[in-house]
Amino acid sequence: MNNNDTLEFVMEPQKNIALIAHDNKKQELIDWCTENREILEHHFLCGTGTTAKMVSERTGLPVRGFNSGPLGGDQQIGARIVDGKIDIVIFFSDPLTAQPHDPDVKALLRIAQVYDIPMANNRATADFIITSPYMDGSYSRDLSNFKRIVDERAKKL
Ligand code: PGA
Repeated sequence: MNNNDTLEFVMEPQKNIALIAHDNKKQELIDWCTENREILEHHFLCGTGTTAKMVSERTGLPVRGFNSGPLGGDQQIGARIVDGKIDIVIFFSDPLTAQPHDPDVKALLRIAQVYDIPMANNRATADFIITSPYMDGSYSRDLSNFKRIVDERAKKL
């Protein structure tokens, strides 16, 4: 790839972190946020509606809430990833219970992968992310130059 094929995106030391937990995992996420409160309070937190409300009420951390997951909250978080407004996703999903909004969950996983977003779907991964030296510093990643891809597709098709 030459230089025009990718664009550099820099994550600032103060990260935008999205929090999501399926119902059977909400307490685990609240416990994890409580354990890591001193780190999390240096960052900007947001989350799907119920998760955001519960984490904020039980830990005292400010968490901006979007819609509830089954009502589009996962999609709102996905859209913010596309807009470059979310740096990290902590998503304690429940692998043992069917979710009505499974397509939205899959869409979020996919778009996080497209945008090279660090994403934890369990506690161990979340522990590795939160203790990473990149949490306190900036981190740069190269993403495909999507504008250029659109320009080329529009010419070709
Ligand atoms: P909730 O949504 O935080 O509103 O429960 C989470 C989800 O199920 O995706």
